[in-house]
Amino acid sequence: MLSNNDQKSTEELIFRAGHHTMYTPLHRLAYSWHVAHLSGITLQRIKNATTKATVDSCTHLSPHIVLVIGESYNKHHASLYGYRLETTPFQQQREKEGNLFVFADAVTPWNITSNVFLDLFSTWSYGKDGEFSTYPLFPVLFRRAGYDVRFFSNQYPLDGLHKGPTNQAGHFFLSDMELSDTLFDYRSSRAARYDMGLVRQVADYQDKHPEIPFTFDIIHLIGQHVDCSKRYPHQLGTFSQRDYANTGKNEKDVSAIMHYDNATRYNDMVVDSIMRLYEEEEAIVVYVADHGDEVYDDLPVRGRLFKKPTKQTARQEFEVPMWIWCTPRYLRLHQELVRRLEENRRQAFFTSDISQLLFHLAGIRCVWYDERRDILSTKYEGSPRIIAGEVDYDSLF
Ligand SMILES: [Zn+2]
Repeated sequence: MLSNNDQKSTEELIFRAGHHTMYTPLHRLAYSWHVAHLSGITLQRIKNATTKATVDSCTHLSPHIVLVIGESYNKHHASLYGYRLETTPFQQQREKEGNLFVFADAVTPWNITSNVFLDLFSTWSYGKDGEFSTYPLFPVLFRRAGYDVRFFSNQYPLDGLHKGPTNQAGHFFLSDMELSDTLFDYRSSRAARYDMGLVRQVADYQDKHPEIPFTFDIIHLIGQHVDCSKRYPHQLGTFSQRDYANTGKNEKDVSAIMHYDNATRYNDMVVDSIMRLYEEEEAIVVYVADHGDEVYDDLPVRGRLFKKPTKQTARQEFEVPMWIWCTPRYLRLHQELVRRLEENRRQAFFTSDISQLLFHLAGIRCVWYDERRDILSTKYEGSPRIIAGEVDYDSLF
């Protein structure tokens, strides 16, 4: 009865039905029952698969691994990818120094945060045998391999759980305390007003827990989420209305684009500060955004359209910025891996396969590792890039 995508399509329905606005109390009741029922079964299966999962071996190839997940980041608004305004000077400086490697062609499976999280955390991807819910979530395998796994989130903090329909349905797998305790050694408890506050939380945690031999930090930002005028302290704003003088756009649209670009520039400072926290270690940082966003570029739209993707929406909402940064010590000690990274970073990548890249970085071997989906492997082929559960991204271009 349940197909692979039942859970996801349920979430999609919720979002497509008008962002939590249900028409009548009866509709609301019907939806919540349906969702709770589906979530319960799916969640139980995922928990079973995750609890039972084991690793075959681990070399701890990279002792300190960091995964930074950005939010609502349109890569075409990053000067790292050629945007006309200088929104990413710190990242470009590190690229120039030769230790930040930009991925040219990364695509995300969904444009809804909770769907992305489930897909990225799962070791499943399109083309694999069996049900989605029979595959474990990857953080548990890092714990089993001896890594201390920490989850710092500016969107899903422990204190914010069980508040509102999004957490009950969309984020159901991270709202379950039992599963959360299985996945993470530590999870942050409160959101910060701006992302720099979350960086301070990571720094405080590091200070209190020094010299742990193997660490895996997942840092989830609020990034450029929805109302970007709230995503950065305005005294740090770089761009003004003047920067959009000859764009032919109206004042209201210009204001939205300006806040988006200022939040993108602030994010540059945030990710640079994250890199600084690990600079002295043998550490590697993977940055990827959950999905893109419409910022009045190809379409007169701000935000995301929850419809069947087209060439235009695929470009703005499903193409994502992604890079890997190595500390100087890491670069010195892992020359072969870095060479492979430099060679393969231009290949087509589907972020659904991020677990495979991370397994490679840790040197984890388990039945869920597949070198054909590992972009650092010489046998890399990649997965079919099916976006929004229905369209082959590569067939659009
Ligand atoms: Zn998102």
